[in-house]
Amino acid sequence: MKTKSIHPPKINVITLGCSKNIVDSEVLLSQLKGNHLTAAHESSEKADIVIINTCGFIDKAKTESINAILEYAEKKEQGEIEKLFVTGCLSERYKTELQSEIPVVDAWFGTLELPALLKKLGADYKKELLGERELTTAPHYAYLKISEGCDRPCSFCAIPLMRGKHVSRSIDFLTQEAKHLVSRGVKEIILIAQDLTYYGLDLNGKRQLDDLLKSLSDVPGLEWLRLQYAYPSQFPEEILDTIRERENICKYLDMPLQHISDPMLKIMRRGITQRRTIELLDTIRNKVPGIALRTTLIAGHPGETEADFDTLYSFVENQRFHRLGIFTYSHEEKTHAFTLPDDVPEEIKEQRASEIMALQQEISMERNEELHGSTLKVLIDRKEGDFYIGRTAFDSPEVDNEVIVKNTETLLPGTFVQVFIEDSEAFDLFGRVVSNS
Ligand code: SF4
Repeated sequence: MKTKSIHPPKINVITLGCSKNIVDSEVLLSQLKGNHLTAAHESSEKADIVIINTCGFIDKAKTESINAILEYAEKKEQGEIEKLFVTGCLSERYKTELQSEIPVVDAWFGTLELPALLKKLGADYKKELLGERELTTAPHYAYLKISEGCDRPCSFCAIPLMRGKHVSRSIDFLTQEAKHLVSRGVKEIILIAQDLTYYGLDLNGKRQLDDLLKSLSDVPGLEWLRLQYAYPSQFPEEILDTIRERENICKYLDMPLQHISDPMLKIMRRGITQRRTIELLDTIRNKVPGIALRTTLIAGHPGETEADFDTLYSFVENQRFHRLGIFTYSHEEKTHAFTLPDDVPEEIKEQRASEIMALQQEISMERNEELHGSTLKVLIDRKEGDFYIGRTAFDSPEVDNEVIVKNTETLLPGTFVQVFIEDSEAFDLFGRVVSNS
């Protein structure tokens, strides 16, 4: 592609949104490098071409993406960059509107239009690089996207509009990719999807997450395998034995529940009841003793009454999740919930979300205090000042708690150590290394 500059153009890729977008950017970077193009991820160096991989999930995420586009649009108008391309979920969802609203952007691409984006850059989509990625995470952990899209009808969710129907990748393909990642120094693989537990149903009509877990867990050198984005309805309980029996599968499960009151689970079209959800949580804890459960909830969905919220609050109080996040409901066009009145005032949504987070902070504080005096296996992620920062098997990167580690000797990122827990705060543990593990 012709640019004014005489040197080969420098490309800077910016990623917004979730871990699935991170994987897409890593695939893009690998294709750009495979075409001998100079590309970097979120580099502060001057670039000729900027590609923004956007998020279009909810209001706050959309605003963040639009602000990033406008920031680089201004840089283009000031001649700081030559070309600006936008891809990802926001572009998939609002391409037509955005094209007329922000004409300075050179081209817009959807979530499944990588070949077209590469073509625009004078590059070819290289099939031989399938499964290849330029990791943008720390080199010792990586996300593995096991499927694309989602077939679920959740009322509030626009993701199927942006990512399409559920498409699983084959067990062989994913196992090869995992072997490749481990051969490049990855110790921890985090399985992600829109709906992890739906895996395989589109391939041959049966859930295959358990087969996949066994195949990945057999990859030599893989120390930690972690599961994120499980779905509670028709949960494949057979995976619980595998999680319990396999040492390198983290005793950790992220399962967004979104709500718990029966009227809300019905309106949200979650396909599960309060009683069945609580039964499932009991089964998970019984079958995998000591498992850390993470969940995500929504405050202020249309129809949510004070009584519904009280039910949710006591549920969080009783279940004492290890990790919990909460969003305020965002009224998203073309979703089922958009046909309902957005009847919970914004300030009530915010208030309910902060009440739940205040409760969770107390629960997390108590749970962390229970760990004082114990020794935990910690994966060191980075150094900050005089301390090392790491995570236990109960903590996923970016979203969960961290361990602040004192140690006189140098510790390299990607190292596993045994840490004696001396102190804690709501979302952090403090300790010292007692041995390498
Ligand atoms: S499972 Fe529901 S919330 Fe998750 S991506 Fe699919 S439709 Fe959205």
